[in-house]
Amino acid sequence: MAPDAQLADRLARVESGIVDACRAAGRDRSEVTLIVVTKFHPADLIRDLAELGVRDVGENRHQDAAPKAAELADLPLTWHFVGQLQSNKARAVAQYARVIHSVDRPSLVTALARTDVPLDVFLEVNLTDDPGRGGVAPEQLLPLAETVLEHPSLTLRGVMSVAPLGEEPRAAFARLRGHAERVRTVAPEATQLSAGMSGDYAEAIAEGATHLRIGTAITGERPPRP
Ligand SMILES: *Cc1c(COP(=O)(O)O)cnc(C)c1O
Repeated sequence: MAPDAQLADRLARVESGIVDACRAAGRDRSEVTLIVVTKFHPADLIRDLAELGVRDVGENRHQDAAPKAAELADLPLTWHFVGQLQSNKARAVAQYARVIHSVDRPSLVTALARTDVPLDVFLEVNLTDDPGRGGVAPEQLLPLAETVLEHPSLTLRGVMSVAPLGEEPRAAFARLRGHAERVRTVAPEATQLSAGMSGDYAEAIAEGATHLRIGTAITGERPPRP
C-alpha cells in the first residue's frame, strides 16, 4: 500500500472506533472532535491528512509547529497546542494556534491574555501524584479557572489530561470528569473535556471526552524527534 493509502486506512479505522465508542456510550459522534496529533511528522503528512478531511491538528512543540503552520497556511486547519508551553512563547504560539490544551499556571494565563488574540483554553490537570508532571494540581484548579475568566480574550472550554501510566484509563478519566464538574461550578460554559489518545480514546469517550488527541494510531510510528 502507498503511504497515503495506509494513512487513509488508519484514519478510517480510528473513525470507526470512535463511532463504536460513541454508540456504546449512548453519545452522538458529532459531540466529539478528533484532533490528529502530528508532532515530529513533516508538513506533507498534515497535507495528506487535510486531503482526507482532517480539520484539527495538534502539536506539542512551538519550534516544530511554527514552520509547519506557516507552510500549510493555505489549508483550512485549526491548530491545537497540546504540549508544555513556556510563557515567553505564548505570543508566537498565538500566531497560529487557536486552542491551547495545556494551560497549567497563572503566569501562562497572563502571557496568553497579553497577546490579545482570542484563544480557546483547556486547563491541564495533573492526575498523578508527581508534581513534576505537566498540569495543575487538582486543588489549584478552581483558582486557575477563575484567573482565565478575568481575561475576555480567553474562552475557557474545559479541562484536559493524559491518563497516568499504571492506572486504568477509565478510572483516571472518571476523576477528570469530576474535575470538569467542579470547574463548571465557576464556569458553566466550560463543558468540554480534552482526553483520549491512541490507546485509550474509547475509555475517554465513555467518560464524556469531547476532544480526542490521537497521534500514532493514525499517523503511524513517530519518526525520531526532529
Ligand atoms: C503525543 C500526544 C498525544 C497523542 O499520543 P498518541 O499516543 O500518539 O495517540 C496526545 N496528547 C498529548 C498531550 C501528546 O503529547
